[in-house]
Amino acid sequence: MSETQSQLEGQPEQLVKFGSPMINLLGLDRTGLETYFESIGEKKFRASQVMKWIHQLGIVDFQMMNNLSKNLRNQLEQTSCVENIEVAEDLISKDGTRKWLLRLPDGNHIEAVFIPEKERGTLCVSSQVGCALDCSFCSTGRQGFNRNLTTAEIISQVWLASKLLEDEKKPGRKITNVVMMGMGEPLLNFDNVVSAVRIMMDDFAYGLSKRRVTVSTAGVVPAMDRLGDIIDMRLAVSLHAANDELRDALVPVNKKYPLKELMAACRRFIDKQNSRSRITFEYVLLDGVNDKPEHARELITLLKDIPTLMNLIPFNPFENSGYRTSSNNAVSRFSNILHDAGMTTVVRKTRGEDIDAACGQLAGKIEDKSRRHRRFAEPRFGME
Ligand code: SF4
Repeated sequence: MSETQSQLEGQPEQLVKFGSPMINLLGLDRTGLETYFESIGEKKFRASQVMKWIHQLGIVDFQMMNNLSKNLRNQLEQTSCVENIEVAEDLISKDGTRKWLLRLPDGNHIEAVFIPEKERGTLCVSSQVGCALDCSFCSTGRQGFNRNLTTAEIISQVWLASKLLEDEKKPGRKITNVVMMGMGEPLLNFDNVVSAVRIMMDDFAYGLSKRRVTVSTAGVVPAMDRLGDIIDMRLAVSLHAANDELRDALVPVNKKYPLKELMAACRRFIDKQNSRSRITFEYVLLDGVNDKPEHARELITLLKDIPTLMNLIPFNPFENSGYRTSSNNAVSRFSNILHDAGMTTVVRKTRGEDIDAACGQLAGKIEDKSRRHRRFAEPRFGME
């Protein structure tokens, strides 16, 4: 069975315990913490107290949690910990984008990126080390899949970014939105991602509303259905093509879950959410590959009955990608066709180019688990 198949079939596992052999409270959502406190003979409400200390006040030393009894503080010290991952590199772009390369306890690296905009500050977090889905234009995809992140490793990105941004003491540097669009396919690390999302939305932790947390998928259809059944939140679909032939080449998971199935899953997801729900579609524009007027028209037909926010993303080039960024003219032409058809369309600016802010670029410089990069020396699909 291939790496991708084994990821797609069956439940993702918690492959690696995070850090210390003691239980890491950073990775427990409210239900998990309540169960933990009950298991040590304490009342459930300790969970919300401890969540506040850890996530809202950034306190990781149990002895400073002064609304807990001395006995409980000592007990927590002996049985549990609050352990974060380490910052290996911390880069700030001219445009304010801040990117962290983060070192995990097993020596692997992941990335998190903060993108400030006028009205909001978005943190993009990773869900896996590498990715099995091998999208042909993606720097993370070339590294291959290594392992799932634990809930603690996912939430640690939010914890660290909140603290480091607060330390800047500058306006407009607050996390208002989290998108799970960093390294990895979130829905192939389902349970840990859902727990992390619950912590992000918990009023005793980060308190983000359901409209401000987005999980992205390349189109793992059964997991989209499962997600819609258990949680109300935003979904983004990495689309990048509106016909199966092109999408098979750009996003290989399309061979398993082709567009017809993917669109049906999007409709089911919306039906399960509240009435104001819509799907965000991500579309990376690649020069001469998927940026022609006929591609835009195909998109309009494909998405005609799905409430859509279309994000057009100019390709952020990386070494030996084999793709080129679309011209400004091609981007405007594409965007205008969608606008004229009544589709809500946003052209995303390329951010943090001077700090390798495209997903996986920094970590890719450190490790290339599968040596997939050799294939990227060749021109890619559809390019002359
Ligand atoms: S685009 Fe997303 S799903 Fe595709 S290889 Fe990259 S990280 Fe994985």
